[in-house]
Amino acid sequence: MDLELKGKRAVISGGSVGIGLAVAHALAAEGVDIAILARDKPRVEAQAAGIARAHGVRSFGLAADVSKKEDIDAAVVRIATIFDGVDILINNAGTGTSETIMDAPDEKWNHFWDLHVMAAVRLSRGMVPLMRKRGGGVILNTASICAKQPLGYEPIYNTTKAALVMFSKCLSNELIKDNIRVNAVNPGLILTPDWKKTAALLTQGSSTTVDQYLDKIAKDNAPIGRFATPEELAHFYVFLCSPRSSYCVGSSYYVDGGWLKTID
Ligand code: NDP
Repeated sequence: MDLELKGKRAVISGGSVGIGLAVAHALAAEGVDIAILARDKPRVEAQAAGIARAHGVRSFGLAADVSKKEDIDAAVVRIATIFDGVDILINNAGTGTSETIMDAPDEKWNHFWDLHVMAAVRLSRGMVPLMRKRGGGVILNTASICAKQPLGYEPIYNTTKAALVMFSKCLSNELIKDNIRVNAVNPGLILTPDWKKTAALLTQGSSTTVDQYLDKIAKDNAPIGRFATPEELAHFYVFLCSPRSSYCVGSSYYVDGGWLKTID
């Protein structure tokens, strides 16, 4: 199937590792030029160079903390200068939390509101004019299964990801007239380096290995009994970015090995 993505231009927040990096490689493999955003400058620049080398596309990395308005404003200016027009925006930067509602201070709520919701609002505001220049585009928001099925230890994560899904729906209604399709993706268990680091910390000094720990999490939760690789998830993003998914608008797609316990 020709995905008709060659020559498109994509901007991916949190594109230097994990899901975002896998999506960047998968799009670049289809001939898409790539801009990735993350805080760690050496890493984001090195990964962008690696994408260019591996796929022969234009690729650049921008150091930006997307929870900060001023960093997004600066990134939008750079992107507009380098790419005269953008086709794809993936709002993907984010991370889990751990707290109780009774104990978490306002500052923590505000930080994750900025990271998971306002970053998507601000990057969309910045990129949509560049998409209009190209006659349309695609915005994908990486939310989480936790937007619908909360995990007990991370109420701030659950709440802000649920807000991101609703933002996605509202934005899709507003932008479809511009030929811009907006959707959310709700992943389940995706085996990123972060999961491995957490597992290593939690199993330190015990007889359980990292693999055993992760295997138990997968078997206890996902009917498929395993984590997905970031690459498995990235294939789905590529399809949603392609004109081949032209009737996919304003939805949330679960990629979770069957973990969601309801029908949706
Ligand atoms: P990783 O921790 O592997 O990668 C996160 C990426 O986001 C990195 O590139 C990181 O780079 C960047 N990032 C983090 N904070 C910021 C910030 N403030 N500004 C700019 N960039 C930032 O995460 P995953 O790949 O696991 O997750 C990606 C998304 O998928 C997240 O939104 C997460 O909530 C969601 N998700 C993940 C699941 C999983 O099982 N892995 C399941 C469901 C959803 P740097 O540190 O340099 O800034």
